[in-house]
Amino acid sequence: MSAVNEIILAEPRGFCAGVDRAIEIVERAIAKFGAPIYVRHEIVHNTYVVNELKAKGAIFIEELDEVPPGATLVFSAHGVSKAVEAEARARGFSIFDATCPLVTKVHVEVAKLAREGFEFIMIGHKGHPEVEGTMGQLSSGIHLVEDVKDVARVQPGQTEKLAVVTQTTLSVDDAADIAAAVRARFPSVREPKQQDICYATQNRQDAVKVLSPQVDIVIVVGSPTSSNSNRLRELAQRLGTESYMVDSADELKAQWFEGKTRVGLTAGASAPEVLVKEVIERIRALGAVSVRKMSGIEETIKFPLPKGLKLEGQKHPGHIS
Ligand code: SF4
Repeated sequence: MSAVNEIILAEPRGFCAGVDRAIEIVERAIAKFGAPIYVRHEIVHNTYVVNELKAKGAIFIEELDEVPPGATLVFSAHGVSKAVEAEARARGFSIFDATCPLVTKVHVEVAKLAREGFEFIMIGHKGHPEVEGTMGQLSSGIHLVEDVKDVARVQPGQTEKLAVVTQTTLSVDDAADIAAAVRARFPSVREPKQQDICYATQNRQDAVKVLSPQVDIVIVVGSPTSSNSNRLRELAQRLGTESYMVDSADELKAQWFEGKTRVGLTAGASAPEVLVKEVIERIRALGAVSVRKMSGIEETIKFPLPKGLKLEGQKHPGHIS
């Protein structure tokens, strides 16, 4: 039986600028205002990140009535509906918004077009907090489609002013198929000038497309709740490469690697590099002798922090990475 002899690392992988910023907002809020800091929903969909922040003094909640009066509250990277935002303000919390600026961009576009009389078809996954936040920018006139079949069923109130928006972390290929079905049914539909699917999602999926044919198995580091991580695993599988997603090295199973010589490794946008390193060590123990980085796009994008979170004399607090 052949043993694993090479690990190829996808490039880029792991943390995106929106996740980096969201984690830094919570860390800085704790450093500046002291624990506890309340966070609505998991700041990003990663178990390790959430547990590290809990240990530093973050309390994660789903409902605003779990937050005591006068507390500091952070909205997660996925964004919130207008109703949640209004309720949080009415309750008088001190709020820091860690919504990824690329999600906020979609919210702004929805609000702008709604003022011009548009209705929307949103391509996304039901129940995902980003979808709830984006759909919740309006009280009506925004219709969710999850797949091509939904497109045939959707019933907008009018079709002259109809626009498409998408969740930022979808499968690029699936979203294109669904958007094509929307276009076929509603030829005058307005599509975003720039794709709503974000650069990080696109780049990580592009990297898996290059990686998959070179390896016998793809391991994706990511939590089950992470949309973009799940899409990476599905993509590798669809490309014909056996693929598994793990939340940590402990979830790796020796039998997955039986008869495999080359392992591809990537990580979702919310999965920290420390977990990738642990996975590398565990696979190395199975016989992998070399670790090679695939060549790929270098991401340099960085988003500014909200006002009020700059620390005196401290440029960058201790960071999970
Ligand atoms: S995956 Fe994209 S939309 Fe989500 S936080 Fe990262 S950059 Fe922002």
